Amino acid sequence: MRCVDLESGLAVLAAEASLRQRRVLTGEQGVRVQIDGREMLSFASNDYLGLAAHPEIAAAACVVAQASGVGAGASHLLTGHHALHHALEMRFAAMVGAPAALLFSSGYMANLGVVTAFLGRNDALFADKLNHASLVDAARLSGAKHLRYRHNDMADLERRLAAAVASSPAAIRFIASDTVFSMDGDTAPVAALLALAEHYDAWLLLDDAHGFGVLGEHGQGSLASHRGWPERLIYLATFGKAVGVAGAAVAGSENAIAWLVNRARTYIYTTAQPPMLAAATLKSLDLIAQADDRRAHLCALMAHLRQRLAGLPWPLMNSTTPIQPLLVGDNATAVRLSQTLAERGIWLPAIRPPTVPVGTARLRISLSAAHRFDDLEVLADALWGLAA
Ligand SMILES: *Cc1c(COP(=O)(O)O)cnc(C)c1O
Repeated sequence: MRCVDLESGLAVLAAEASLRQRRVLTGEQGVRVQIDGREMLSFASNDYLGLAAHPEIAAAACVVAQASGVGAGASHLLTGHHALHHALEMRFAAMVGAPAALLFSSGYMANLGVVTAFLGRNDALFADKLNHASLVDAARLSGAKHLRYRHNDMADLERRLAAAVASSPAAIRFIASDTVFSMDGDTAPVAALLALAEHYDAWLLLDDAHGFGVLGEHGQGSLASHRGWPERLIYLATFGKAVGVAGAAVAGSENAIAWLVNRARTYIYTTAQPPMLAAATLKSLDLIAQADDRRAHLCALMAHLRQRLAGLPWPLMNSTTPIQPLLVGDNATAVRLSQTLAERGIWLPAIRPPTVPVGTARLRISLSAAHRFDDLEVLADALWGLAA
């Protein structure tokens, strides 16, 4: 929507039940949070392992802050590249089985940086229809042809790849997909994507923002079971979700990472993240490697939730991850349900267009290993009460 008159623009948003307003959180992130001064049971964070307020992670950050301050002082290519950033890159690369890695200040910046470093006007980006907004924006910024294939439809992707090879064989082909779709909770067919990229001579960017730390053996992410690293594979993990800190890292071949150091503008023209955050992330990666018990609990919570909510008038979407959305449909109903839950101390915001397609507003239940089974009972009882 384009609007010159902001007042009427905001009024339109309000009339559509799509006006967004922020709530103020005090104290720590977790499943019991203070929102606007009131304690709420939250199903709304991406803190899947319950690490965001972990004392050992906070302590790791504090040690560095006290010893050497907070600010990084400069970008990575000037004097901002600290030994802790470097150690984190090597640790991350080893963890995901990649030759090299590069740290970015956020996942959004990483996606913009990678896509614009590799693609220009004459190239083509093949993107899943439901990819994260940062990948959509990255495509626009690159100027590349943006070919959006039907969600998880490998036949549609293959048709488009074959057509591109025939019509402009010299163009760079780049496939991008979320591995876990953030508003649906379903997963991409990673093995099929790898095979298509190889067959059609394409790069593949896998955005594992919601998989890293949660999925795969010891939380190594969506690539955990794949061996070897194809030259043109780029893997992205963010550190603000299950890792509980902030930032993101991209893994790839030595040459791909060297290219990004030279060409990714969101890496080059920004101040490095505070080194204390790299220390915090390193500590979190230690905890994640040992967190099989947290992941097992999360799985048990998922199974229990799906069982308790089956049969509600709002269907659970087809998800095997901690993102468990209830499909409501129209904005007004989703907002009303969310508000009624909030009055009862349950924080479960409505997700509306443009974040999701029109007519598919939903309540996005996000589970955390910090939830207890009785927290799910509270939610389930409230939802069944609203359904009656
Ligand atoms: C959250 C998210 C991002 C952005 O990561 P930030 O570090 O929060 O900027 C990118 N991709 C996906 C799929 C995400 O869910």
